[in-house]
Amino acid sequence: MASQKERKISNLKKALDKALAIDEKKIAGQIKATGFLCKKCAQCCRAEFGDNTVMIFPSEINCICEKTGLSRDDFVIPTPSGDRDPEGNIHTFEWVLKKNGDCIFLENNQCEIYECRPYICRTYPFFLLDGKLEISECMGIGGNINDEESLILAVLLKQRYIIEIREAITLLERFNGFIPGGRGNVCVHDSEGEHWLVTNPDQAN
Ligand code: SF4
Repeated sequence: MASQKERKISNLKKALDKALAIDEKKIAGQIKATGFLCKKCAQCCRAEFGDNTVMIFPSEINCICEKTGLSRDDFVIPTPSGDRDPEGNIHTFEWVLKKNGDCIFLENNQCEIYECRPYICRTYPFFLLDGKLEISECMGIGGNINDEESLILAVLLKQRYIIEIREAITLLERFNGFIPGGRGNVCVHDSEGEHWLVTNPDQAN
């Protein structure tokens, strides 16, 4: 009988097949019909306009490290979590960009890592949920967008969605539970395996 983990992976693989079959042109048509023009207001990067948390995948972290010379711990923290193993170490999944209220990469209303900003930033205010287009609050909604820009956004959305699912599959395949024993007090589980950190627990719970 399949374990819960095997069932989850099997369901994710079915979701991946559906994601790979998504018609970008149909999504592009929906974006065009909605309308969007970025007003460069940077509200999505700032704290005063709501949740500006940016989830980031290992591949995106590595890309930012390569382009900027920064190291991972300079700009990400573990996703906050209340999960603990029997020795009290915190376990969490994935990473989020550091904030000082606003995103740490926001400088004079501009993104300092614009060329390698995460997918979530490239595709805001759109995202795919169960393969369907969803829209977050944004001042740019309703703006004038052409066919080419709509298609670029749709392709990025599909890529982001596929990466999300692949990340979840690989994470689960490598996940062995909340087991103590690493060198640190916080363990981040992602598609690369376990990352043990010595960190201020307040940053992770
Ligand atoms: S990475 Fe750039 S675009 Fe994304 S939230 Fe930070 S400043 Fe904004």
